[in-house]
Amino acid sequence: MTIWAKITLWFSALMIVIFAIMFSLIFVINRYVLYTDVKETLQTAVDSNTEEVEYTDDFESEDVEPGDHYILYGDGYLEIDDDFVQERRGVYTVLMDQKGRIIYGKPPVDIPLSDSEGVQIQMVGGEKYYVYHVRLTGENLKGLVLQGFVNEDASETILGRMVELTLLIVPVLVLTAIIGGYILAGTFLRPIREMTITAESINDGADLSRRIELKKGRDDLHQLAYSFNRMMDRLERAFENQRHFTSDVSHELRTPVSAILAQTELTLARDRTPEEYKKDLQLIQRQGGYMKRLVNGMLQYSRLERMEMLSEKEEVDLSQLVEMVSEEQMLNSQKGITLSYEAEPGLVIRGNTEMLIRLLTNLISNGYQYGKENGSIHVSLYKEDDRICIRVRDDGIGMEAHETDQIFHRFYQADAARSSQKHSMGLGLSMVAEIARLHHAEILVESEKGRGSEFLVIFKKN
Ligand code: ADP
Repeated sequence: MTIWAKITLWFSALMIVIFAIMFSLIFVINRYVLYTDVKETLQTAVDSNTEEVEYTDDFESEDVEPGDHYILYGDGYLEIDDDFVQERRGVYTVLMDQKGRIIYGKPPVDIPLSDSEGVQIQMVGGEKYYVYHVRLTGENLKGLVLQGFVNEDASETILGRMVELTLLIVPVLVLTAIIGGYILAGTFLRPIREMTITAESINDGADLSRRIELKKGRDDLHQLAYSFNRMMDRLERAFENQRHFTSDVSHELRTPVSAILAQTELTLARDRTPEEYKKDLQLIQRQGGYMKRLVNGMLQYSRLERMEMLSEKEEVDLSQLVEMVSEEQMLNSQKGITLSYEAEPGLVIRGNTEMLIRLLTNLISNGYQYGKENGSIHVSLYKEDDRICIRVRDDGIGMEAHETDQIFHRFYQADAARSSQKHSMGLGLSMVAEIARLHHAEILVESEKGRGSEFLVIFKKN
């Protein structure tokens, strides 16, 4: 079952329970109110009728009031005023003698007289009645009783209608709850649905550029969609990198492989002297050596990508790192080049030590590689405003202005370097650029042909 269906179901169930509790409460309260109301009406009707019964033994015909009733009683008459209400809103009142015989009133049912006080419930002919008796206390009226009663139906009918109405309304409300739940759940879960569709379409078509469209909002699901998109950015970048790398590497490997194949074909085409064989084998060995360095470079590169995936970042003391790498590089001194360094103490950034060592090592070894005989390399580490900078300057062969834009591309080598440097591979600076990017650092280069180059790596303070 989908989350959507589950939420709809739970929401509807909850709403139904709430409705049920609400209606039961309303029913109970109404029942109570109605019952009290009926009792009150009954009591008021009977109590006010007591005022309308009088006794008279001094009866003159001219005293007769039209509308009043006169009933022979004892030695005189009972005078029932015309305000005496026999029936109103289902409440009947009858006048009885002490034996329960009806003196006045035409009730639809005969309810036996009882001694009880207050409103009672009596069953007559299978029906329920609220009955109320009042004994008359006036002069000569003793022994007379006013009996009031009302069929319970009066209140039950109202309640019955209420139940009927409820039974009509409840399905509508339940349906509204289900539709409401469905729409609400759908709205809340839209980012998840979009995520699923996007993930599916990436899966089906391997289109890594697809992203979840982010609407306004800052809830957890939007956060999840945002994280998903960021993850996809990273995956896409890694995948693109991998793809370019593979195509670059295959391209680079093709040259030595073709050279080896061509060379062997040429050599095998006819018999040769041992010297010729030796020369040809040396050629093949050189190409093999080149391939070996290429493979090593590739390994280093993929190691870098693995490190990126793991994001191993820690506090790195750049001051110590510059000192350590410079001291180490001094030992490899080539061409009589002097390496010097100065590092402001205590400059720390968050980063990956291994990557940062590689960055500095690559820059310094390029300084040696493209340096002049007896030249110099100077490394400095300093803080400027809220930025930390590493500068590596040499007075070597330098570059043309247009080359400085290219050197960070993989396998790019300036012509001069390509022809003069047997060991160059064109991978070093692309790794430096990648490491700088992973540390959110900027890298600048200034160079002049024949005068030297300066590389500046700027870390924003974190
Ligand atoms: P590689 O040194 O293996 O060729 P890099 O990526 O380190 O590869 O450098 C790319 C190119 O940039 C080099 O071939 C070279 O032409 C140029 N380059 C790099 N560093 C320097 C430098 N310090 N001085 C002059 N040219 C440089």
